[in-house]
Amino acid sequence: MCSNNGMYENYSDRSARNNARTPTPTHIYTKGSCSHSPPTERPNPMDKTQLNAQKNIWRHDLKTADARSASGQTTQNHDLLQKLYNIANRRSKGRTTPNKPKNFHIFTDGSKTKEGTGCGVFSEDLNIHISKPLGEHSTVFQAECVGIIEACNAIKRRQVKHENILILSDSKSVLQALDSPKLTSKLILECHQRLTEVCEEDNKVTIQWIKGHSGSRGNDAADELAREGSATPAYGPEPIIPLPVSYRKNQLSQNYKQLHNKYWVELDTCRQTKEILAEPNTKLTKILLRTPRKQLRKLVGLMTGHNTLNKHLNNIGITDSPMCRACMEAEETTKHFLLECKQVEVYRNKYLGTPNTLKEVFSNLKTLLGFVEELGWLE
Ligand SMILES: [Zn+2]
Repeated sequence: MCSNNGMYENYSDRSARNNARTPTPTHIYTKGSCSHSPPTERPNPMDKTQLNAQKNIWRHDLKTADARSASGQTTQNHDLLQKLYNIANRRSKGRTTPNKPKNFHIFTDGSKTKEGTGCGVFSEDLNIHISKPLGEHSTVFQAECVGIIEACNAIKRRQVKHENILILSDSKSVLQALDSPKLTSKLILECHQRLTEVCEEDNKVTIQWIKGHSGSRGNDAADELAREGSATPAYGPEPIIPLPVSYRKNQLSQNYKQLHNKYWVELDTCRQTKEILAEPNTKLTKILLRTPRKQLRKLVGLMTGHNTLNKHLNNIGITDSPMCRACMEAEETTKHFLLECKQVEVYRNKYLGTPNTLKEVFSNLKTLLGFVEELGWLE
């Protein structure tokens, strides 16, 4: 049985950040792109084969990404113009010492470590010490939200009425989400509902931002309880809180990245390129895509071996000899040109130093292009 008793019906509504994408082989990229789109977004209603294929990919990838909440994570827009509680999430107002004295101070916090996620609630005034494990897959945002919900539940259990209550959280994003006039996250909606219920007991509730790890005893205690929660195994099947879309998208991206790496490693061809790129390299790809076309042609030529050096020209029947034009001692390959040829050693030392591997040469494209353009062998 699920330990959350049906609470926390949703994840955060924060939009997923797009991961930097390495240009992937077309079949992997197409599959990855399809899996990010819900099957209801029909590219062509007439093409049922395409639609069914897309649905199958979507279902399969949800399984592999362990995303068990395929639908219903988001809620329809809710107008939250009327709030019975106050929110103080600006730095100027977010001091640990409130302007007006409050009867009860309650500190909440969320924590995510390698072991898991958890939330903590601490109040000396109300004698609250809650440490709740939230499983492996929840986000910090979700943990912070659940912390506030648990704080409200604890206040209700203690039947607090006609009091001034200050809830202190170090999550600006949760406070901003609560402050927004509209929301689409069920978890934030639940937060709002619990806070409203506390206010309806004739309590004056303020929820305020506090700087994390700022030496506040209450915040430190809540942090400690949250860490304790994150280190404790959660009871019941995962996910304890339905997974956010951002998490699901991230899992899918990771899956396709692994697929791309495996495809590259197992590929029988591209021997020379693999000497430079042992695995797909997002950073190098981004730099190459920003490089002017003329220079990009030379760099790709050197990486693939398909260039105007004698070895390749001889392979395709343009020159009679594959031998090096400078030393005539070895075949004029990329490796000979960039690493071995004694006759161009002066220029190599000037631009590249004394590299031992092609990978080392390609670690600085600017000096590599300087060397190539000085010699002009790839013009
Ligand atoms: Zn040579």
